[in-house]
Amino acid sequence: MSPRLPVEAILTDIDSLERYAHDASEAVAPMPPSAVVRVASTAEVSAVMEAAHAHRVPVTPRAAGTGRVGGAVPMAGGIVLALERMNSIRGIEAGDSLAVVEPGVVTGELHRAVESEGLFYPPDPNSWESCTLGGNIATNAGGPRAFGYGVTRDYVLGLEAVMADGSVMQVGRRTRKGVTGYDLVGLLVGSEGTLGVITEATVRLLPNPARVVTLVALVASEADIAPSLAALRARGIRPRCAELLDAHTLGLVRLKVGFAIPESARALLLIELDAAPDASDRLDAELERAGNALVDAGALEVLVATQSHERERLWAARRELSWALRTLAKNKLSEDVVVPVTELGALLEFCTATAERTKIRMPAYGHAGDGNVHVNFLWDTEDERPRVEEAIEALFERVIALRGTLSGEHGIGVLKAPYLGLEQSDAVVALEKRIKDAWDPAGILNPGKIFPGEATRALHNFHGAC
Ligand SMILES: Cc1cc2nc3c(=O)[nH]c(=O)nc-3n(C[C@H](O)[C@H](O)[C@H](O)COP(=O)(O)OP(=O)(O)OC[C@H]3O[C@@H](n4cnc5c(N)ncnc54)[C@H](O)[C@@H]3O)c2cc1C
Repeated sequence: MSPRLPVEAILTDIDSLERYAHDASEAVAPMPPSAVVRVASTAEVSAVMEAAHAHRVPVTPRAAGTGRVGGAVPMAGGIVLALERMNSIRGIEAGDSLAVVEPGVVTGELHRAVESEGLFYPPDPNSWESCTLGGNIATNAGGPRAFGYGVTRDYVLGLEAVMADGSVMQVGRRTRKGVTGYDLVGLLVGSEGTLGVITEATVRLLPNPARVVTLVALVASEADIAPSLAALRARGIRPRCAELLDAHTLGLVRLKVGFAIPESARALLLIELDAAPDASDRLDAELERAGNALVDAGALEVLVATQSHERERLWAARRELSWALRTLAKNKLSEDVVVPVTELGALLEFCTATAERTKIRMPAYGHAGDGNVHVNFLWDTEDERPRVEEAIEALFERVIALRGTLSGEHGIGVLKAPYLGLEQSDAVVALEKRIKDAWDPAGILNPGKIFPGEATRALHNFHGAC
């Protein structure tokens, strides 16, 4: 028998409906949801889905609402299914190097919990102090460490999910290896709440690397970024992070990094290396080789931070960038495009030229090692908006021409849905729609997301959340 939900789990007051109608993007819900249901167990999720399915009510799964593309914004009213109360770490099993978590666990809490046992969960979206494992899995989140360790998908072994009709399904496994049947875990990861509601995840863990060092390479031009990465690669150095700041974003952190940045520096590479407890000597040797490689590739200066407070200061400056950019204009929009790393120079050059042509500021920073760049668009007045749209469309077209992809982290959600066809053929989109129909025949799970047509790019009322 389905459980009865406690009355306090269901919110219908205007303030709550309004609060749960937004996420950290500029997407605007055309109408508020009818109810927010704050579930506490798989059985409750199942009961909500069963009732919603019977009455054909749309359901939008939502975790912490830090998404950048409107994935958790209810586009068709109905129910917002809030999963933040399902926040327990059910177990950390050191022997099998895995953790079993509920979807509402905040990512940073999982980091701390496993690190206290000498283990390591690498995915580190910069929102890790507020976003959740459920949201990370639904968007296949990545972060700076993705360069060395991969993205969320690489760590999800098994999932429990509630299907659109309320049935509960276990997919995947607890073992690292396994090829039985289709990879349904792989399909659910990154499905943005459109195929099922994740209610439990089994994630794999690594030994915690004991030593971490951070290098900063100051370079004369953005064009020096890709050759610097190539120089590291050529010497067999595979950093765990390689972040870039362009000339504009470098200007923003100048006073916060804790050292003087010469005026001649027009871009910065932030590189991190790590090693297991018994490989400290190897790390020292690698650090020296990395420094030499960067200098040989033309770096103006290479600085090393070995103490955790020095590293933290650098990373705090990097993490603050998104908010710092917001102070520069009334409106800000951030894209998360990816190009092959050899095309990074071409992408950054394109951004400079497009900013000049459209007179829209386009500062860029991001995960250089993965070719994943956050291109930001800053503007103040309504009459600039058509030029912002023009610049965004030009960016997406250029990224596809460079054989890249529209989103490396945030997903498609509502905001990028109109551009899906730039990257995927009609046949591919039709196949994806058939998959969606097979999993959710009534179309009640997170309608208006991913697929173009229903969703519109809503720039209205944006006051710069990203
Ligand atoms: C300052 C800042 C920095 C950021 N940095 C990064 C970054 O470095 N890398 C990165 O990848 N992202 C980043 N993001 C974006 C965002 O944090 C990620 O997309 C994150 O994974 C969303 O998690 P959430 O818990 O907030 O999910 P939400 O925003 O609540 O939901 C995101 C999507 O997941 C779906 N969903 C949520 N929970 C479930 C569930 N249990 N079952 C099924 N579907 C579900 C929702 O329907 C929605 O489509 C950043 C955001 C901010 C504000």
